[in-house]
Amino acid sequence: MKKIFLASLCTAIVLLCFHSASAQTAAKPQRTIIIMMDGFGNDYYRNSDMPNLNQLEKAGIYNVVTSLMPAVTNVNNIAIATGDQPSKNGITGNVFFNPKTQKEEYIEDPALILTPTIFQRAKNMGVKSALFSCKKKTIDLMGGFADISLCPECDGAGSSIWAKEFGTPPDVYSKEISYWIFKSAIYTIKNNSDLGLIFIHTTDYPMHMWPPESADAKDFLHHVDEYIGELRKIAPDAAILITADHGLNSKSLCWDLEKALQARNTPVKIVISPEKDKYVKHHRGMGGAAYVYLNDNKDLENVKKTILSLKGVEAVLTRTQAAKRFGLMPERIGDLMVLADKTTVFGYLENTESEQLDTHYRSHGSGYEAHVPLFVYNAKSAPNAAYFKYNYLLAAWLYRN
Ligand SMILES: [Zn+2]
Repeated sequence: MKKIFLASLCTAIVLLCFHSASAQTAAKPQRTIIIMMDGFGNDYYRNSDMPNLNQLEKAGIYNVVTSLMPAVTNVNNIAIATGDQPSKNGITGNVFFNPKTQKEEYIEDPALILTPTIFQRAKNMGVKSALFSCKKKTIDLMGGFADISLCPECDGAGSSIWAKEFGTPPDVYSKEISYWIFKSAIYTIKNNSDLGLIFIHTTDYPMHMWPPESADAKDFLHHVDEYIGELRKIAPDAAILITADHGLNSKSLCWDLEKALQARNTPVKIVISPEKDKYVKHHRGMGGAAYVYLNDNKDLENVKKTILSLKGVEAVLTRTQAAKRFGLMPERIGDLMVLADKTTVFGYLENTESEQLDTHYRSHGSGYEAHVPLFVYNAKSAPNAAYFKYNYLLAAWLYRN
């Protein structure tokens, strides 16, 4: 009798422990810090003195992975934030051609994102989240479900608690703006122990300005590394997940494809540079990929032939080919997708069809910028290294039932 009682008691205790352990796991996933280092190509990492990141590399997972095409910020940032390719989440550029208005429009409306963001998934599991970005478009687009959000150009940022602590937000065209964002994130983590997810998005402005081997780029990244070290120190329990949206390369030639096609008797409805955004000083809206919308489908072969005759064009894909090759949503790309070689970009030029670019000009968008580092550190329930083949998978496994 005593034995039976003891056995039942043990079973009850085991069940109780098991129940409370699983309840605890379900109730409180591991605290997680995601850093999307805008423009952080692997060449920038390898050229810089980043001892904290080196430690993360050694202690965790480090892969050089493929980023998504076109290699622009929105496409990759939203893919990282949703854990889905553009074929599912619908974000195929910084701008898109709106069939309703028949105009090129900036992608700023969160309704254009067709799958839940990580902030939404976190909220569904009762996890409180915060989004810190150097760019307002990131907050507008994906910050909807974040409990706390901050960008230097966001309403009230100048009079916020962060401005009181760290001064007026620096200019958007500066390296200091990323430091301000890191400091604000660190301050918020220290003062909000209930935050379960922190997403930090830096700016690629320094990478547009300086090549990986330059003293300025190295100085910027060494500073960033110190903030990574501090994050690790103040949140030793946290998983730290880091990747980038694209790298950057020096570019020497720009084509205004619309004008070039017009001049060669193969006019089209519109050509869109998916890299174009409101931060013109970064890259003047020029990038290494373009979407071409035809006036008529029967123009396809002639237009394709003309584009392929231009110097610096590497490939012209049909909508179906591009969607398949890069995981894009067919309804949100052009009839054709044009890919540049390493030193050519496409974009709007005021009075000419092509332009030799300044020797310091750096940009992205092509397949040559679609390789970035990925770090997964101290993540208790992360898949193994082989899973992380693309940057968008960085946190795709988090907060799934
Ligand atoms: Zn970017």
